[in-house]
Amino acid sequence: MKALEQFDIKGRSAIVTGAASGIGLCYAEAMAEAGAGVTITDIDIDGAEREAKRLLGEGYDARAAHLDVVDREEMTKVFDEHVAHYGGLDIAFANAGIDPGAGFAAPDGGRNPEGQVDAYDVSAWDRCIAINLTGVYNTMREAARVMKAGGKPGSIIATSSNAGVVIEPIVGMPYHPAKAGVSHMVRYLAMELAEFRIRVNSIAPGPFVTNIGGGWLQDPVVREAWDSVVPLGRIAETDQMKPLALYLASDASNYVTGSQVLIDGGMALGGFK
Ligand code: NAD
Repeated sequence: MKALEQFDIKGRSAIVTGAASGIGLCYAEAMAEAGAGVTITDIDIDGAEREAKRLLGEGYDARAAHLDVVDREEMTKVFDEHVAHYGGLDIAFANAGIDPGAGFAAPDGGRNPEGQVDAYDVSAWDRCIAINLTGVYNTMREAARVMKAGGKPGSIIATSSNAGVVIEPIVGMPYHPAKAGVSHMVRYLAMELAEFRIRVNSIAPGPFVTNIGGGWLQDPVVREAWDSVVPLGRIAETDQMKPLALYLASDASNYVTGSQVLIDGGMALGGFK
């Protein structure tokens, strides 16, 4: 098979969590642009509906659903509805995540710290683990259930972070173990699901300009500070995620499972430039 043909996902379907904005939206766009049907899910149902409508208007196949990744009942319902609509599920992105805030001060003082581990509000820990770790578990669990029932190969992709590999003092402490947990959970499930031809991989982004943490990476001052510490010299726009999302979703990566792909401008090589 020719190289480009291996990226073909026409006629397949994908579900993406946290897809009303940012990296999740970019995954959804990548799937739709490559010819798959996609369910855009988010707690922000207005945003999910807006983006599904936009993609439909551009001639792609998209639909929206409300989904809080913490809510297992809603998760089951949304996955079942996706299967009823598309006749199966080929690709699932466990993407929804938050920056919980609590953490250390950045070396350059770039962000207001909420105090060290003994000082901050522990609710930041609870929220972060519930959404960024348990929410990914809930998503991968449902994806495995419906993909196994479908009996076809599948691809599950979780969004981790380079903060699961190295310490990024500017990002809250609870974010680090949550993301490291996502990457390691992916390795376990890759082993478990291999016999069903379901592949499980993670993407570990560095700084991308999105709405995360209230959009602090969009601030020109913060942006300039990050541009100067990333080895490749800049923070990234979400469009840059599309080729990697398509690679992991498609047969182009059909011998890849349990992997983590860093897409961080080199930050995890040694932290700051
Ligand atoms: P974003 O805020 O633009 O998008 C996150 C989306 O998740 C939002 O639409 C939000 O409404 C949704 N969401 C929040 N809580 C949810 C819940 N409980 N259930 C369902 N949806 C929920 O942020 P983003 O940067 O695109 O983040 C996407 C993923 O990428 C996250 O897992 C994040 O940790 C990860 N990530 C981002 C960066 C970055 O620099 N932007 C770096 C590394 C990893």
